[in-house]
Amino acid sequence: MSTAAPRPIAFFDMKAQQALIRAEIDAGIARILDHGRFIQGPEVDAIEAGLAAFAGASHAVGVSSGTDALQIAMMAEGIGPGDAVFLPAFTYTATAEVPLVLGATPVFVDVEEGSFNLDLADLERRLELVRKEGRLRPRAVIGVDLYGLPADWPAIEALCAKHGMFALDDAAQAFGGALGNRRLGTHAHATALSFYPTKTLGCYGDGGAILTNDADRAELYRSLRTHGEGKTRYEVQRTGMNGRLDSIQAAILLAKLPLLEGELKARARAAAWYESHLAGRVRTPQVAAGSSSAWGIYTVVLPDAEARARVQDSMKAAGIPSAIYYPKPLHHQPAYAGAHAEGIAGGPPPLPVSERLCHQVLSLPMHPYLGEEDVARVAAAVLAGL
Ligand SMILES: *Cc1c(COP(=O)(O)O)cnc(C)c1O
Repeated sequence: MSTAAPRPIAFFDMKAQQALIRAEIDAGIARILDHGRFIQGPEVDAIEAGLAAFAGASHAVGVSSGTDALQIAMMAEGIGPGDAVFLPAFTYTATAEVPLVLGATPVFVDVEEGSFNLDLADLERRLELVRKEGRLRPRAVIGVDLYGLPADWPAIEALCAKHGMFALDDAAQAFGGALGNRRLGTHAHATALSFYPTKTLGCYGDGGAILTNDADRAELYRSLRTHGEGKTRYEVQRTGMNGRLDSIQAAILLAKLPLLEGELKARARAAAWYESHLAGRVRTPQVAAGSSSAWGIYTVVLPDAEARARVQDSMKAAGIPSAIYYPKPLHHQPAYAGAHAEGIAGGPPPLPVSERLCHQVLSLPMHPYLGEEDVARVAAAVLAGL
């Protein structure tokens, strides 16, 4: 029997990918050191064109982070005090932070057990409550494609169209996912991407982008990311921010984008391996018919917190990393509890699925460089802990 230690399994693996493109990255950075246009250099224009083409969107606007992508998209709509913004209670904090920073009120909506994404029936119920109370104007829905699984965009779009609301896709974990034959990026009025290093397309720092098919919105986003500038640099048309993507991060993305198509296939392959080992034993992520996940994060649902703790211990003993996204629903976070109570003054209905999932979800290693043996080892450690 071999006594060699098994090869370590990374939760996200950025090193394997870097080894493939290191020379290109070095050359790209060297070019920027030579030309010296560190901000808004030609690399930013090039990656914007590449992102738009990849997603099939008419416009891509590079920005400084996924959070700023959400913020700029909301600023462009003039969303602020007195406005209700509907978003899932089970997501990353940034989704809820942005409406609050702009003075708007987040209204937390429950999610579906199976897809982890917005529950449309609950969204409609809360929208009706806000409309009846008449204190807040329903202005926007931020749908999140959690873990890479596309939300029900046709239904969200239809609801937004009916009530004159802005549909914003927080696709920070889902770049590359698709509904039908259309990738995420054109299903909402605007789509926010994050290039945080561990996302499906990541840079080596902070970065993000906004995708849209609307030329007027794209122009506004370009203005807002540069302090609200007008046609000329020192004409300030509106209150904006410093929300630019820098040239070096754009060069990293340019080196990585050609790998993305193949990496998405490799993630889907790893997900299928997980499914073959785990289906029937734990609840595995279910992708709705006709859509495809970007598999940004691979998350299973365990019966309860005790079972999850046992599985985590079992994985830890086998030297395999795991993570909990997210341990608390946003309406229980100290920063958001007040806003939650205020959103529906008559008393917001409970959010049972979001509250339950926080005790049940466990994310397993997921990246394009996982081998079949790696997945088998992870799965064995999960099953041993049940
Ligand atoms: C990562 C993430 C963001 C924020 O992106 P940053 O680039 O880190 O600002 C927003 N929403 C979701 C769902 C995310 O996962």
